[in-house]
Amino acid sequence: MRVNMDIYAIIEATQELHFGNVKDLNVNRLEMATVPGIDGELQKLYMSPTKVRGVARRALLWKLNDLGDDQAKSCGIPATCGKCDLCKLFGGLMTTTGEEEGSIASRVFQAGGVAIQEASPEIKQRLSSPSYIINGQIGQYSKKEIKKLLQTRGVTKEHLDRSSQPMPYEKEYVVAGALFPVYWHALLLDTEKGERKMSEPQMVAYSFLEALKRIGAGHPKGAEVFHHKWLEDKAEPLLTVDIYTEPLGKRPVISPMITDIKKAIEEFTFKSKESTSVQNKFERYMGEEAHELLRNLAGGQEIKSSMLSQDTSQK
Ligand SMILES: [Zn+2]
Repeated sequence: MRVNMDIYAIIEATQELHFGNVKDLNVNRLEMATVPGIDGELQKLYMSPTKVRGVARRALLWKLNDLGDDQAKSCGIPATCGKCDLCKLFGGLMTTTGEEEGSIASRVFQAGGVAIQEASPEIKQRLSSPSYIINGQIGQYSKKEIKKLLQTRGVTKEHLDRSSQPMPYEKEYVVAGALFPVYWHALLLDTEKGERKMSEPQMVAYSFLEALKRIGAGHPKGAEVFHHKWLEDKAEPLLTVDIYTEPLGKRPVISPMITDIKKAIEEFTFKSKESTSVQNKFERYMGEEAHELLRNLAGGQEIKSSMLSQDTSQK
């Protein structure tokens, strides 16, 4: 049986998380996105789905390798093999000439990543303060030293002054409390494990959970699904997972124009609750139940979903 699996979550950046966008300079700047707002443009932090995707793919590559998947051992990033279970799911691009040339379309799509809150002036101020790593040491350097370093890395005159303002302290760029809605859409997953080391839904669940731990440039890394009392009177993860062949639920996607956390959670809750489970067509899991489903699925444990366990239970 083939099913689709969608994951909707609001995740929280842990403290001191960086999303670098000028990697070669070791500038701990945050990636920003400008989004339209009703009263003008908004500046928001951005957790690029492309980067999340790379992290997710690596997590799976390591896991398959660990499980002794020989085909995955010849696969990598960016040199994908186009033959392994990972390429069949996440896509592959074969650049070798001849018969092997071509590409496989991905069946896992990542979206979202624009923060809910507007970047505060405080954060903007901090963004302009660069930090550098010189001889492996991150920290406070004189303007002269930084300029020297930047020049060797090809920074031109006009950017040199701006980029060489010394930073007052090394751990300055905290994004604590920034919330990011993220969405994964996985298509036509084979519920049967077959010869694979991991089933396709298992691979999706595993890579989603593992990617969270490794999001962010440099160290420390990591994000976690944000917990809030949104279903009942206890804090539960803002997480909704759909397993389906027919799209019967409203998608809990939050407009990037929303800057208010409370409104965003209300929107997520309202849309999540707009669904009807139909046997063998649509299953929706929310909160702790959804988190548990992903964890058990990722770990190869027994799961509640009848759509996902149909085939495996026959073995
Ligand atoms: Zn491959």
